[in-house]
Amino acid sequence: MIHYSITPANPSAHIFEVVLTLNAERVKRLPEGITLRLPAWIPGSYMIRDFAKNIVEFSAVANGEPLPYTRLDKSTWQLPASEHTVVIKYAVYAWDLSVRSAHLDQTHGFFNGTSTFLEVVGCADEAHRVTLLPPHQQKGWKVATSLARNGAERYGFGDYIAKNYDDLIDHPVEMGTFTLGEFNACGVPHVMAITGRHEADMARLCKDLTTICEYQIKFFGEPAPVAEYVFMTTVTGDAYGGLEHRASTALMSARHCLPFAGQTQATDDYISFLGLCSHEYFHTWNIKRIKPAVFSPFDLSTEQHTELLWAFEGITSYYDDLVLVRTGLITPEQYLGLLAKTITRVQSGAGRCKQAIAESSFDAWTKFYKQDENAPNAIVSYYTKGTLVALCLDAFIQSHSDGQTGLDDLMRTLWQRYGLDQKGAEQGVPEHEIPNLVWAQLQPFAQSGEQLREEVKAFFDMALYSTEALPLKESLAYFGVALHFAPKQNEQDTGHYIEQYVPPQTTPLSIGARWVEKNAQLHITHVFDAGSAQLAGLSAGDVLVAIDGLRASTASLTRALKHKLAGEQLQITSFRRDELMTCTLILQEAPHDSARLSWLPQARQSSVTKTWLALTQK
Ligand code: ZN
Repeated sequence: MIHYSITPANPSAHIFEVVLTLNAERVKRLPEGITLRLPAWIPGSYMIRDFAKNIVEFSAVANGEPLPYTRLDKSTWQLPASEHTVVIKYAVYAWDLSVRSAHLDQTHGFFNGTSTFLEVVGCADEAHRVTLLPPHQQKGWKVATSLARNGAERYGFGDYIAKNYDDLIDHPVEMGTFTLGEFNACGVPHVMAITGRHEADMARLCKDLTTICEYQIKFFGEPAPVAEYVFMTTVTGDAYGGLEHRASTALMSARHCLPFAGQTQATDDYISFLGLCSHEYFHTWNIKRIKPAVFSPFDLSTEQHTELLWAFEGITSYYDDLVLVRTGLITPEQYLGLLAKTITRVQSGAGRCKQAIAESSFDAWTKFYKQDENAPNAIVSYYTKGTLVALCLDAFIQSHSDGQTGLDDLMRTLWQRYGLDQKGAEQGVPEHEIPNLVWAQLQPFAQSGEQLREEVKAFFDMALYSTEALPLKESLAYFGVALHFAPKQNEQDTGHYIEQYVPPQTTPLSIGARWVEKNAQLHITHVFDAGSAQLAGLSAGDVLVAIDGLRASTASLTRALKHKLAGEQLQITSFRRDELMTCTLILQEAPHDSARLSWLPQARQSSVTKTWLALTQK
C-alpha cells in the first residue's frame, strides 16, 4: 500500500509536510529500487510548471537508517532497493495563490495533488491512501475535497483514498474555515466552499448553481457521472480563473462577483461568476471524461500536443453562457451581449489573421500560456475563437438537417462514445474524429453523401486550419441575430447587444496601442499591427512623457483623440530604455472591430431561435 500523510505544518513559512510510506511488502516488489517523481504540469493548464521546484527538503529512512538518494532529473528522485518499510519525508513550499498549485498561510491551505504527491513509479495503478492532518496551531479548520472518504467524516481531517495515482492528483484539497453551501442536483450532493472574506448570499448562489448543474446533468443524460461534486472558491479583490477536475473545480473570483444579500438581478459581475461555474462544470464531461486521445493516458513529464483544445475549451465556452440563458438565469439580450464581447475579442486581434485555431491549440504550451506584448498580433485564442467555431458548427449542423439535429446531439454522441463507453473513454477522441462524427450525424438528412462529406470537410478546413473569417453573420442570422461591426467608441466599448443598429455618425480615432498610466506617465503595453503607434515607431515598453509638448496622461491623450481628425498628427516624446525619443504619430480611424448584436425581425417568434435559447421552456 502507498500511503501519504500531509500536514499544514508551518503556515507562516507556507510549508506542507508530506510523509510517504511504502510498507516492506510493497518495497520488496520494487527490486530495481524506488523511483519517485512529481508532475511537471497539471491537466487543464497547458504549461510546464516544474512543481518539483517547490520541494524544499527531502529525506528517506528504512529500518531506522537514512537511505541515500540520487536525482535523475529535475522532477525525479531515486532510492535504492530495500527489504524494509521505507518512509520518505519532504516539504512542499506552498505560496502560489492560484488554482494551479498550492497555497498555505494562517487563514487556509489549498493544494493540488500534482504539487504534493510524489508518484511511486511502477505503482500508479494501485490504490493510494491519504491521511489529511490538521494544523498544529489553527483551530476549527475543515476540509473540502472530492477525494473519496476512507474513514474521515464529511469535511473532516482523516483518511481518504484514491483508486490510482491519476485519481489521486485530480482532487484538490481546501482546508480552513470556509463558508459552506450545500445543494442537490438530480439527487447528487454538491458543495460550494468559499474561502476569503465575503458576504455572499449563499442561498441564492446554491439555488442558481442547482439550476446550472441539473441542466447540464440532464443535457448529457442522467445519472450524473459523479457521486458528489465540490466547487471550491477563493475570493480576493480582483481574481478570476478556474481549473476543472473530475468531481470538483477550483475557482478564483473577485469578491464583488458573488451575489450579495438583497441583490436580486443578475449583474454583469455575478453573470461572469455563474459563467465560470457553468464552464468548469461542463468540463466534468467535456475534457475530464471525453478526452483527446493524446491525453489518454497523460504524460505529465512533458508537453502533450493536441489540435483539439478548440473542442474542449471552445465548445465548453460556447455552452457555459448558453446554459445560463437556456435556464433563464440571464435574458436572451444579456446572452447576446456576452456573445458580442466574445466576437469583439476575436475581431480585435490581428493574431486571428496569422494563426489558425488548430495551431493555437497545438502551440498552447509556448504561445497561449506564455503570452507576451505581441500576443494580440500573433495569437488567436482557442477559447474565444473556439466559442465562435462552436456557434458556426451548431448553425452548420442545424441548417444541414432542417433543425432536426445540432451541436447538442454531437456532444451527446461524444459522451456516449468517448465518455460512457469504457473502451472509447480509454482511447480518447482521435485528433481528426470530430468531422467524421458530424458527417455521420448529418448523413440521414443528406441528398448526396459525397457532397455532404465535402461540405463538412470544407467547414472544418476553414474553421480549424485556416485564418479565413468564420461565417459569423450567416450563422448568427440562422439563429435570428444580426451582426454589425462598429469602431470602438471608447476603451469600455467591448461589444454589446443593441435594440436596433444605427451606423455611427463619426468614427473615433485610435493610436493603435494599449497603455497604462503609472506615475504620471503612459506606459505602452501593446502595439497593434499596422496601427498608428507601430507606424510611428512606438513599441511596447516605451514610456510616453509628452504629447504635443504637454505632459502625457490618459486624459490629455483622450482629449487629443476627441478633437483631432484622421490624418492629423501628434508629436510624441517618449523614453525607450533611458533615451529620450520623439516621433510623429499620424492618427487613424479606429478599426471596425466592436460587435453589435440585435434581433432580426420576427426572430423571437422563430422556432430555431426558441430552440437555440430554450425560450419555449420558460
Ligand atoms: Zn475550460
